[in-house]
Amino acid sequence: MGSNSTRLRFRDLKPPKEGSKITFKDGYPVVPDQPVVPFIEGDGIGRDIWPAAQSVFDAAVEKAYGGRRRVHWLEIFAGEKAQARYNSYLPDDTLEAIKTYGCAIKGPLSTPVGGGIRSLNVTLRQTLDLYSCVRPIHYSYGAPSPMQHPEDCNFVIFRENTEDLYAGIEFAAESPEAKKLIAFVNELLAKDPSARGKKVDELAAVGIKPMSRFRSQRNMRRALQYAVTHGIRDVCIVHKGNIMKFTEGGFREWCYEVALAEFRDKVVTEDELYKQHGGVLPAGRVLVKDRIADNAFQQILLYPKKYYILVCTNVIGDLLSDAAAAQIGGLGIAPGANIGDAAAVFEATHGTAPDIAGKDLANPSAVIFSGAMMFEYFGWLEARDLIHRGVEKAVRARTVTADFASQLEGATKLTTREFARAVIAHM
Ligand code: NAD
Repeated sequence: MGSNSTRLRFRDLKPPKEGSKITFKDGYPVVPDQPVVPFIEGDGIGRDIWPAAQSVFDAAVEKAYGGRRRVHWLEIFAGEKAQARYNSYLPDDTLEAIKTYGCAIKGPLSTPVGGGIRSLNVTLRQTLDLYSCVRPIHYSYGAPSPMQHPEDCNFVIFRENTEDLYAGIEFAAESPEAKKLIAFVNELLAKDPSARGKKVDELAAVGIKPMSRFRSQRNMRRALQYAVTHGIRDVCIVHKGNIMKFTEGGFREWCYEVALAEFRDKVVTEDELYKQHGGVLPAGRVLVKDRIADNAFQQILLYPKKYYILVCTNVIGDLLSDAAAAQIGGLGIAPGANIGDAAAVFEATHGTAPDIAGKDLANPSAVIFSGAMMFEYFGWLEARDLIHRGVEKAVRARTVTADFASQLEGATKLTTREFARAVIAHM
């Protein structure tokens, strides 16, 4: 409950009087009927899309559960609003609230350029150890898409979210640190006969690409559990192990390792599929396969029906997520979740769209679908389905925001708020 002890943890937040915390068991949430859910409105179009999305969430929960279930919202702050209120872009109150309540949903945040300030999104992920970035790519309604058959795209991407080149270990070209590191690496290379005269240019900038068994495997484990729970029969590991043998190649090997060690009776590898099962996947089993990243990019365009769950390293997952989102209508509608063992943050994957901010023009679908993902994570599937139905019917009726209206013949252009009202009316 919003007790005094909870209140004291925060410098400047007043938790709602009603509602309780989400707790966790074995990395999965135990959700009360009346959870407190912190939200970050976000910068730029955040102030347009968040209130619209919140009205859709409340209407869906009310319609599905008639008052038995309810979200008690708690506004927390990051980005420009936080800077004005706390003189910090990411105040401790915000991190503490997400840790306390176990979940949050956010609009986009602008990263201040320069001044050595790290991306707020990256800081949130790293600080809360939100190790899987989950991006569903489903096309289920009439959104404009560059694909001839966008309905064939049904992927969920599980991207490792904490290491790889995005761990942020970089040294500027010609800096003393880079020169020292390069000298050390060149010394190691000189002693290694397999390096065959390889040498790093001493004036180069350098970045480090750490990839570990533990971090690769926890993301793969989550993807496999998702496949088993949802009856999805195909998990594809995407990597660039043909070139980066120990990092990307290690990722591939560790992912197979966890599949075979922990899910042996539930999975079949592609090799086993042909050698032992005549190419026919036995009932109740999940096929575990892998594809080299460049091939994966063309596969999801040419043969989208052959892919369901894609397990990616951090950098490749970042690129593949946006490419896949483009296939179903672009980033404006793509939701995402950053999930760890003790917290999850759901977010629209687009940015702050400064060009249209504050004009009530933006498409709130990405944050609306992020909320649908959050309800699925809660196990509130009826609320999730109502949201999907509402958006689908609004788009099929061609009552859409400006971004879609410009691409759909005969469309009626709605403001952000009007679109939210149309979604609610169609639930
Ligand atoms: P952007 O996603 O903000 O905008 C790209 C284009 O898409 C713009 O033309 C914009 O008008 C349009 N667009 C984006 N979302 C839309 C929506 N919901 N409805 C209609 N049109 C939409 O990308 P950008 O311009 O590269 O970045 C702007 C700022 O956002 C930067 O400060 C960047 O750091 C930040 N950003 C934040 C996140 C995040 O918080 N998750 C993600 C990406 C970028």
